[in-house]
Amino acid sequence: MPELFIGGQWKSAVDGGVREIRCPADGTLVAAVDEAGPKDAAAAVAAAREAFDRGPWPHTPAAERGRLLLRVGDLLERDKEAYARAESLDTGKRLVESQYDMDDIAACFRYFGNLVASGGTDRVVDTGSPTADSRIVHEPIGVCSLITPWNYPLLQTAWKVAPALGAGNTFVLKPSELTPHTAILLMGTLTEAGLPDGAANLVLGAGATAGAPLSSDERVDLVSFTGGLVTGRRIMAAAAPTVKKIALELGGKNPNIVFADAEFDTAVDYALMAVFLHSGQVCSAGARLLVQDELHDAFVDEVVRRARQIRLGGPFDENARTGPLISAAHRDKVEAYVAAGVAEGAVLRCGGARPDDPALRDGFYYPPTVLDECAPGMSVVRDESFGPVLTVERFRDEAEAVALANDTVYGLAGAVWTQDTERAHRVASRMRAGTVWINDFHPYVPQAEWGGMKQSGFGRELGPAGLAEYQEAKHIWRNTAPRPQRWFE
Ligand code: NAD
Repeated sequence: MPELFIGGQWKSAVDGGVREIRCPADGTLVAAVDEAGPKDAAAAVAAAREAFDRGPWPHTPAAERGRLLLRVGDLLERDKEAYARAESLDTGKRLVESQYDMDDIAACFRYFGNLVASGGTDRVVDTGSPTADSRIVHEPIGVCSLITPWNYPLLQTAWKVAPALGAGNTFVLKPSELTPHTAILLMGTLTEAGLPDGAANLVLGAGATAGAPLSSDERVDLVSFTGGLVTGRRIMAAAAPTVKKIALELGGKNPNIVFADAEFDTAVDYALMAVFLHSGQVCSAGARLLVQDELHDAFVDEVVRRARQIRLGGPFDENARTGPLISAAHRDKVEAYVAAGVAEGAVLRCGGARPDDPALRDGFYYPPTVLDECAPGMSVVRDESFGPVLTVERFRDEAEAVALANDTVYGLAGAVWTQDTERAHRVASRMRAGTVWINDFHPYVPQAEWGGMKQSGFGRELGPAGLAEYQEAKHIWRNTAPRPQRWFE
C-alpha cells in the first residue's frame, strides 16, 4: 500500500523512491516505505492549500473541531497497542515506554480538543467610544509545515497536529525519515475521526529533499520544526524570503544542579533517569550534572555504581531498562564526543565502549557513560551528544551553580535539587531555560507550555500558547454610526 497521504488519497512517490526502515535494536527490516521528493512535497502543499482556501475545515465551528480531536484521543486509546508496537519497531525503544508515550499523545489530543471546544479565546475590546464596537477573533494561520524528529516520533507530531487542526489550519507533516510508521497510522486515525480530505497530508523522506521544500514553498504560511540546532538554522533561513511564521523546538544541554542538602537517594535516582532515559535521546535530557563540592565524591560514586547496572536490550526484552541508539551514524557521533571529552581531560568513570554481549551485536547499543571532572569548555559539555553520556562538573556555591547552568547556548530545561525551598526558587528564577524542575526531572503536562530560550528555539508547544502559535489574532472594528469625518475640509 502507498504511504504518502495527499489530498485524502494514499499515493506512491512520483519518482518511485523507496526507503527501508530497520529496527535499531537488531537491524531487522520493519518495512520499505515510499520516499518522497520535491514533487511529492509540492503536491502535498498544493492539497493543503486547496483544503485551506476552499475546503470546509477552516470554517468548521470550533466546538466541532474540538470534538474531532477528542475522537482522535479515543481512537488512539483504542489502537494503542498497534501504535506502540510500530513506534518501538521504528525507534528501538522499549514497548512499555512507547505505551506511555501513546497515553501522553491521547492526552494531548484531548487537552487541545477541550481547549478548542470551550471556545473563549475571542474577546471584546473596549474602544472608549459609544459609536464603535470592536473585537479580537482568532483565525487559523493557513497551511502549516510540521517537521518532526525520530526520538519521540508521534509525541512531537501530536504537539503540532492537535493545535494546528484545533485552530482550523491544514498541514503537511514530514516525520523523520527514520521513524515514519506512527505518522502513517495517524493519517488513518484522522480520516476515521472525520477530518475532511486535504486537511492532513503526509510526506515521508529525507530532510534535504522532502523537508526543505516545505520550509521554502510560498504557499506555506507557517513552519513548526522540532529537531537539531543546525537544521533549525537552515529552516529559519529557508523561511525568511517569504516571511513565514516559524516555531523552532531545538536541542538542549540541560543542567541538573544538585546541592549538598539534596535528598541523596532520590537525587541519585533522578540523576540517572534524567540522562539515561531512552539512552539520552531526549531533548530535555539532564546531561550535565552539576554537584556541590562536598557532595561530589559520594554522589558520583553512587551514580556510577547504579549506571553500571542499567541493562540494555530491545523493545520486547522485559528485563531491559533502556534500548539502542537510533542509528550507526548516531552511535559514531556519541562515541566521538566521549573520546573528545577524555582527550580534553575528563575522567571516564563507566561505559565508554560498545557492549560485547553477542545478543546486542546487531543493534546500535551504547552503555550509560559517566565522565567526571569535566570543565565548561569541553565539547562533550558544550554540545548536545544526544546519547547516554553524563558529564559531571563541581560547584562551590549558589552563584557558581547558576553561572555554570547558564553557561550554554541552549536554554531548554534544567533542574535544581535542594531541601531549601527559598534557594530552589531563587535558582529556578535565574536559570535561563523554558522549563525548570525543582526536586524532579522530566515531568510535563499538556496544559503547561513547553519550549526553549536562547538557541533552544522560540515559540511554545502545549498549553494555551501552544494553540496561539497556530492562530492569527484579527481585530474587527465596527463603526455603529458612520458619518462623514471631513478630515480634509
Ligand atoms: P534533525 O534536525 O536531524 O531532523 C529533524 C527533522 O528535520 C527530520 O524530519 C529531518 O528529516 C528534517 N530535516 C532535516 N534537514 C532538513 C531541511 N534542510 N529542511 C527541512 N527539514 C529537514 O533532528 P533529529 O536528529 O531527527 O532529532 C534530534 C534533535 O531533535 C535533537 O537535537 C533534539 O534535541 C531535538 N529535539 C528537540 C525537542 C524539543 O522539544 N525542543 C524535542 C525532541 C527532539
